[in-house]
Amino acid sequence: MTDFTMQKDADGVAVITWDVPGKSMNVLSMDGAATLGGLIDEALADEAVKGIVITSGKKDFAAGMDLNVIAGMKDAGGAQGVFDGVMSLHHLLRKIERAGMDPKTLKGGKPIASALPGSALGIGLELPLATHRIFAADNPRAKIGLPEIMVGIFPGAGGTTRLVRKLGAMMAAPLLLEGKLNDPQKARAAGVIDEVVDDPVAAARDWVLKATDADLVKPWDAKGFKMPGGAPYSPHGFMTMVGASAMVHGKTMGVYPAARALLSAVYEGALVPFDTALRIEARWFTHVLMNPSSGNMIRSLFINKEALEKGANRPAAPDQTVRKLGVLGAGMMGAGIAHVSAKAGIEVVLIDATRAAADKGKAHAEALLDKAVSRKKMTAETKAEVLGRITATTDYAALAGCDLIVEAVFEDMGVKADVTRRAEAVIPQDAIFATNTSTLPIGELAKASARPDQFIGIHFFSPVDKMMLVEIIKGAQTGDRAVAKALDFVRQIRKTPIVVNDARFFYANRCIIPYINEGIRLLREGTNPTLIENAAKMMGMPLGPLQLVDETSIDLGVKIAKATRAAMGADYADDDVDEVLFRMADAGRLGKKANAGFYVYDDAGKRLGLWAELGTHWPRADEQPELTEVQHRLMFAQALEAVRALEAGVLEDIREGDVGAILGWGFAPWTGGPFGWLDMMGAARAVEIADALAARHGRRFAPPALLRDMAAKGQTFYGRFDRTAREAA
Ligand code: NAD
Repeated sequence: MTDFTMQKDADGVAVITWDVPGKSMNVLSMDGAATLGGLIDEALADEAVKGIVITSGKKDFAAGMDLNVIAGMKDAGGAQGVFDGVMSLHHLLRKIERAGMDPKTLKGGKPIASALPGSALGIGLELPLATHRIFAADNPRAKIGLPEIMVGIFPGAGGTTRLVRKLGAMMAAPLLLEGKLNDPQKARAAGVIDEVVDDPVAAARDWVLKATDADLVKPWDAKGFKMPGGAPYSPHGFMTMVGASAMVHGKTMGVYPAARALLSAVYEGALVPFDTALRIEARWFTHVLMNPSSGNMIRSLFINKEALEKGANRPAAPDQTVRKLGVLGAGMMGAGIAHVSAKAGIEVVLIDATRAAADKGKAHAEALLDKAVSRKKMTAETKAEVLGRITATTDYAALAGCDLIVEAVFEDMGVKADVTRRAEAVIPQDAIFATNTSTLPIGELAKASARPDQFIGIHFFSPVDKMMLVEIIKGAQTGDRAVAKALDFVRQIRKTPIVVNDARFFYANRCIIPYINEGIRLLREGTNPTLIENAAKMMGMPLGPLQLVDETSIDLGVKIAKATRAAMGADYADDDVDEVLFRMADAGRLGKKANAGFYVYDDAGKRLGLWAELGTHWPRADEQPELTEVQHRLMFAQALEAVRALEAGVLEDIREGDVGAILGWGFAPWTGGPFGWLDMMGAARAVEIADALAARHGRRFAPPALLRDMAAKGQTFYGRFDRTAREAA
């Protein structure tokens, strides 16, 4: 069985069908590409074949390149291996585009059309872009685009060069630089594909049978081709390139090598003939692939993220698919959990102490669904179906038959214990009970349960509908089936799980709090807040620490500080931070929700700039720290805590540590996560920096023993801890 097969009919149409055996989505491998090349050669050489249609045997066209193959190309052949691999794809696609025509007269080629039944992503769109006409089914769920930039690479199989020549740099920019995906209608409106039809294979067949020589010549192969929107050295094109460069640097702060390389490929490619532009694209692609950032991003954001979603760490247990979910507490989190679960087809009972509160929770779900309908992401019928799955009530008897409970009532041990007992009195003996607590130990909460082995933490992040990470927390007594249940649930609602052990703040909050605290300490020491915020963003953090406190609210910080201080007693080491937080809270500057925090906001909640009075409360020091010093403090605060979480056994798998860091709190995605970042730097250098920070700023930066040991042995985290590597060995 091969990935591509060809069937020729009596009319002289050869239909090549892409259908990778044993996979639900087509992905391209180098073997697959070779098979496709052979079939194209055969069809072009066969006199009986008048035209070719390339389609898919699956419901979608293709999900792109097999990223494991890309990672493999680099490991096996280094830069030359990558370049050669990419150039072989260029040759294949160029062969399709030229289709046997005479290079001088541009005549005598055979028409080749693509027929897309559903989504066409990455090389799954670059291949169609090389054909002469693209037909897509009118399937609003299909996604068409080039998302490579999201995993730290860029379209390197001609997608960059072809799209810029097809649409102009300006129109191609959002598709290339942001990886924007469109449904077929929008993709056609944007000029990416040609036609949206009911039956794309039939339409493509008709077209290839009547296409003329002129229909096969791409604009860039025709005489006198002019770049749409102007070449770089035209007045228009000049403005576009300058603007794009500024925009990319403004957005990425220069930390994403792929965005810069993409721009270079576009700019340099636009100055030369098409085939030279493809070579330039291949060189920049190779350059990006050889940068450790892209390897780390592919590893965390694609390979390992998918492995975790597929249950890499799921204990062996029968299928635990959730059928009926009980959500206790219809506040911000409970309502959000009910919404995403009902959307995934799960029946939900949403309980609160009063009818009004329960209804308010359901109304929150309805408001989110309405938004989706108004944005045409959901039909009114689907909305009604989803909403119909949520029963809002105060009656615990309605929980009968629930196989999973997620508790999201007030963060109070007594209240949580009470609802645990009330729910357990009604639910089946084998149901699993989960708590969404952020700060209370799972082991303590499990004491209220009659079945502590069926008690677990399922920790969502706010806002639930947007945040893709779910932290699953095992208490000391939590059993395997509870873990499997939580993982199967997270899979149903299409989020990414990590499984950690029970310890203060679990994993994500444990690492994000030191980041916020370090920002606040810097402010208190008299560092210019603009320097603090920009230093963070220039390291690739999506939000500076002060903006992050504003977003999560200062009173939440105060609440957590008070509770932590009470729990830790004499070991508590954040009094200096609290002084700042408490003063902000006393001044009523509670953050974004109060339209006043470290930043000032207008009445509509738009952030205007840093609060001018910060300098009065915490006067600027005459001497400001170096940028790198500020960056090291902010980044090491997080990364060292991640190492401590690993050392303490809270994290059991560094893949979860890296994926969780990026999805949970936005740890600089270009690094591939804190462990990937430390590996890039090397343990010895990390220890050196941490030691120096500890000498200047205190013990919180002291390198954990594990890091010292790795430095002494010359080890990396992925070398020492990667489960996949160990399992393969
Ligand atoms: P919230 O105050 O918005 O909602 C809590 C809801 O629980 C309220 O609607 C309240 O009426 C209801 N409730 C209280 N006592 C009840 C009882 N005895 N029976 C039924 N309902 C009762 O709080 P939230 O922000 O949604 O947080 C809920 C839980 O989720 C907390 O444990 C919190 O730590 C955790 N959490 C919050 C966040 C966040 O960002 N807000 C993130 C992760 C986890």
